[in-house]
Amino acid sequence: MTLKFKEPAPITDELNPLESMMKRFDEAARILGLDESTYNALKSPEKAVIVSLPVTMDNGKVKVFQGYRVVHSSKLGPSKGGIRYSMGVNLDEVKALAAWMTWKCAVVGIPYGGAKGGIQCEPREMSQGELERLTRSFTGAMRDVFGPERDIPAPDMGTNPETMAWIMDEYSKLVGQASPAVVTGKPLVLGGSLGRVEATGRGVMVSARSAMAKLKMNPSQSTCAVQGFGNVGSISAKLLERQGVTIVAISDISGAYHNEEGLDIEEAIEYVRKNKSLEGYKGGKIITNEEILELDVDILVPAALEDQITEENASRIKAKLIVEGANGPTASTADKILDDNGIMVVPDILANAGGVSVSYFEWVQNRLGYFWTEERVNRRADRVMKQAFDDVYKAAKKYKCSLRTAAYIVAIKKVADISKLRGIF
Ligand code: NAD
Repeated sequence: MTLKFKEPAPITDELNPLESMMKRFDEAARILGLDESTYNALKSPEKAVIVSLPVTMDNGKVKVFQGYRVVHSSKLGPSKGGIRYSMGVNLDEVKALAAWMTWKCAVVGIPYGGAKGGIQCEPREMSQGELERLTRSFTGAMRDVFGPERDIPAPDMGTNPETMAWIMDEYSKLVGQASPAVVTGKPLVLGGSLGRVEATGRGVMVSARSAMAKLKMNPSQSTCAVQGFGNVGSISAKLLERQGVTIVAISDISGAYHNEEGLDIEEAIEYVRKNKSLEGYKGGKIITNEEILELDVDILVPAALEDQITEENASRIKAKLIVEGANGPTASTADKILDDNGIMVVPDILANAGGVSVSYFEWVQNRLGYFWTEERVNRRADRVMKQAFDDVYKAAKKYKCSLRTAAYIVAIKKVADISKLRGIF
């Protein structure tokens, strides 16, 4: 029986990025003609664990925190996904982010399922000691969920390589053996991978190159604007510049900086290293973070926040190609407008999957007990990203749809086919 879909949600500006993701999942499932039982199975997480974590704070009082881990799918392999420390963490958000990880891993063809976790807390107001006790307590509570062959956390908002080192240490003590592969995103000296820091931006560059080839765009005659100049934005800009692309605008929370002649990205990175932000940067004239999106450029890389391209501004976007470095930078209400205007969008679940691909390589190296050179990591990651782009591009031609819908189709089909092969339901 094929699924009867409800009327599409009305076009509204109120869809948040996670609802936007679910809307795109529904669209891809409809095009694929997914049967109802598979659809329902893929929508529901396999496991959702909620724990209460009593932690002795520095003032001697005990505070109880809520922690979550949701495994959306482990059909393709152990589940993979970050751990978020933020006051906004709640079960619904963690469930949706876990599903997002399933599609991201599936689209790039790495043998992982999807998961996400989080603790409702304000990490900026906690001491290192409190954060460490909280993390160790969470790891103990999740002992039966985490595992190198079961579920592998990574850093996300509010957590970092040090948090991963505590999880690895606590987990290794609990199981009585060294288990570096239980987490990725570790410090290099503890089994982190070379190339991980640059991996997401590098994947953005590789996706951009693949898309430019399809659009017959010559890198050395193309211009690009990059919104966000953190890890993803600055590395994407640097590597695209090395490909010959002229980066005419960059931005961060302090504002956007535009120079039609092109900016010197290495110099801008050095400026941010010294000054912590682009504030006061003199390389270009100051414009706003809204204006940077609407510049007359060939390529736009949104690499800051979600919901930047919306129903309101989509019709003013002039770029021919958008490569989504950030998660959810385009609201689903903008998809049709971009499509109608012939703009190619390389979607987030494909374009920024270079990070999770190199996390997978970190896990592989840990299990081998061996280290690869940065060159080897990059070469393999580039291959994964190129192949994923080609698979999605082919699906877009076959189903006559956008790259975004095609990416969901590729991912959902892979998880559905493997679920059926395994005979799980
Ligand atoms: P980051 O914290 O290193 O950088 C974020 C950048 O965005 C900073 O330059 C910041 O100043 C800027 N910014 C913040 N608010 C802004 C605003 N209102 N307007 C313009 N710029 C603003 O973060 P990151 O790791 O580069 O992540 C950026 C995006 O990429 C996020 O959506 C993240 O989820 C996504 N992502 C990151 C990775 C990764 O490996 N780091 C992987 C996949 C996806």
